[in-house]
Amino acid sequence: GGKERSLAKLIQDRLPAPTRDLLHLAGRLGASLGLPVYVVGGFVRDLLLQRPNQDIDLVAEGDGLRLARALAKELGGRVREHRKFLTSMVIFTDTQGREQRLDVATARLEYYEHPAALPTVELSSIKMDLFRRDFSINALAVRLDGSFGQLVDFFGGQRDIKDKVIRVLHTLSFVEDPTRCLRAVRFEQRYGFHIGQGTEKLIKNALSLKLMDRLSPQRLYGEFRHLCEEDAPLACFTRMDQLGIWEAIAPQLGLTPTRKALLQRLQEISGWYRLLYFEEEPLPWLVYFLGLNHGLNYALTAEHYRRLGLPEALRAVVLSQREHLRSLGSQLARRQAEGAAPSALCALLRPLRLEFLLYLMAQTSDAPLQKNISRYITQWRRETADITGDDLRRLGLAPGPACGRILAAVLRAKLDGQAPTAESQLALAASLIGQEQGKEEAARPTPLAH
Ligand code: ATP
Repeated sequence: GGKERSLAKLIQDRLPAPTRDLLHLAGRLGASLGLPVYVVGGFVRDLLLQRPNQDIDLVAEGDGLRLARALAKELGGRVREHRKFLTSMVIFTDTQGREQRLDVATARLEYYEHPAALPTVELSSIKMDLFRRDFSINALAVRLDGSFGQLVDFFGGQRDIKDKVIRVLHTLSFVEDPTRCLRAVRFEQRYGFHIGQGTEKLIKNALSLKLMDRLSPQRLYGEFRHLCEEDAPLACFTRMDQLGIWEAIAPQLGLTPTRKALLQRLQEISGWYRLLYFEEEPLPWLVYFLGLNHGLNYALTAEHYRRLGLPEALRAVVLSQREHLRSLGSQLARRQAEGAAPSALCALLRPLRLEFLLYLMAQTSDAPLQKNISRYITQWRRETADITGDDLRRLGLAPGPACGRILAAVLRAKLDGQAPTAESQLALAASLIGQEQGKEEAARPTPLAH
């Protein structure tokens, strides 16, 4: 068994009241149902590291579904069941009106069969549940019923957090699940820990046994996306290079100095973007898929996207935008050098998705162009004319395609500073309507002379 330590005070001092209340509620309900209940995994790790974590994973020894139902009833929520995996999710609305989710798993007493011919062991159900996890720092639990706050630490997770070590629980861990190689790197870099010596040897061993080849693209994709969503993916990519993980996934994806510099810029620009807008959700990880394939041809890039499990629809988008970027890059640089007006740059940038704009910004070393792309992202692309179709109708223009053409021309003039106010835009519209009508006159067939 583990050392007895209570986290009750840490929970009281460090967690926001709603989270604390949820943990107490789960404990009370567990006690009344006669079910031992624990909060487990990343939540406990981050509590000890004093980092925020909103994902509460509960484990009940016994019928977790009963606990989930009781929680849903108390919280006015509902339960989504996954019978096959003995897990359920409680979905409810918190006091701020936001939707929240709570995972509840069932731990049963069972025999653990090692993947190789090792002796079968019998473990208590919570110990069994924790033993299946990836690293000691993720294999901690806190008891919620009865002795609220008691830390359950069978595998030295507490010590490893103190020593800043990523360590697996047994030697076959990476054989069981090779995605853990990527997870080890991710947690190591996120927390500034280091992968323990024994664990590093096991990673290298797994790689030399080509275990990565057995991973499906879907599994790889799941973990790879998590990596790209970290604050500093480049540190993870670099470490993967050092451990030979790229080599094992796709040799040509390794980090060249050029790619490294580009990824560094991408990371800075993604950070900049995240500071600006939280509400508009680009797919920031997508830029890293592009960056990692910098300098590779279409066929190899497509092959890498397939191997990394990028879903079909996204793959098509990324590959076509990639082609578009190739021709656009030099065109933009030329137009910028010629002193093109903002509206001309906007017209070129308009077809690009946000992720690719960020990518383009990272890729260019032309400072004025970079500045203009950033202006496009923050301002220009959201700009609209200050007059509307109604204004055009009042000026005597019938609804039709000409309306759109004129509003677009007005917007261009506004972007270029030629019609900054609504009045100047109205005046411009009036003169453009005159021209449109002149064109119609000209287009009318001239009567045949007799
Ligand atoms: P994050 O902060 O990135 O969400 P997390 O530890 O909460 O980290 P999840 O992927 O949500 O990560 O996993 C929750 C828990 O499930 C982990 O703490 C770990 O105990 C366990 N786990 C997840 N993936 C694996 C895996 N591949 N092998 C073993 N255990 C895993």
